[in-house]
Amino acid sequence: MNPPRIIENSPLARLARLKLSAGSVAMVLGRSIHLSGVTREQFLRDPHWVAHEVEHIRQFEEHGRAGFLWRYLLGWVRHGYYNIPFEVAAREAAERDALLYAPDGVLPAPELRHPTPKAKS
Ligand SMILES: [Zn+2]
Repeated sequence: MNPPRIIENSPLARLARLKLSAGSVAMVLGRSIHLSGVTREQFLRDPHWVAHEVEHIRQFEEHGRAGFLWRYLLGWVRHGYYNIPFEVAAREAAERDALLYAPDGVLPAPELRHPTPKAKS
C-alpha cells in the first residue's frame, strides 16, 4: 500500500476534536490522515494509533467515499461514536496490527498510547 498522506493542523480534524472533546484527533478522508492537536511525528510514534487509522483507510477503499461516510454517520446515529462498527473494527485492527507499525518491533507502554475518544453522541 502507498503511504497515506498526513495533514497536520487540519481544520476538519479540529472540528472532530471539538465534537469529541478530545485533546488530539486523527481522522481519515480517503487516503489522507488529518491530524489536530498532534504532530506527524507524535502520531507516527504510536503504532496502535497508526494501525487504527490505516484500518479506516482500508474501510474507505472497501466502501468508497460516499459509502463509507454514509455508513459511518448511520452507525454514529444508531450506536453512538464508540460503537460505530467501523470504530470497533479499527480498535480491533489496532491491537492486531500495531507491530506492523512499530519501527523497532517494540510496542509502547499502554499509558503512552493515544486514548480512544468515548463521546456518547
Ligand atoms: Zn477511528
